[in-house]
Amino acid sequence: MTKGECNCGSIRFSITTDLSDVIVCHCSICRRATGSQGIAVVLVDNDKFAWTSGEDHIITWRKPDSDWQMWFCRTCGSPVPGSNDESRMFVPAGLITDGDETLRVAHHIWVGSRAAWDEIGDGGRRHLEAFDE
Ligand SMILES: [Zn+2]
Ligand SMILES: [Zn+2]
Repeated sequence: MTKGECNCGSIRFSITTDLSDVIVCHCSICRRATGSQGIAVVLVDNDKFAWTSGEDHIITWRKPDSDWQMWFCRTCGSPVPGSNDESRMFVPAGLITDGDETLRVAHHIWVGSRAAWDEIGDGGRRHLEAFDE
């Protein structure tokens, strides 16, 4: 069982499948959303994901004129899981603190627009923009 939670512990979730691939997005929108080089997420099928507590603590923000959306804990501001489609959840990898041993960076996306100071040093495949799985 894989578990994760936000910084204040209000929002908790569990995942019932083995996880491996982390996708790191280096685009400017994700950089602003986290204040770092981007965001690292794990894609989880909806039926393998469950909220344990705090779903009512989630606030969302959609970037105008785009389909980019982000979900946050309204108490501590941690990015939290959310979904832009009906089949999968986008789970911020940094929230997973129990069961993360099998995770590895598999893909870097929007590498072409990464920050000047962002040096990629792992073995993940690099894509200048998005990629099709
Ligand atoms: Zn929180
Ligand atoms: Zn991005």
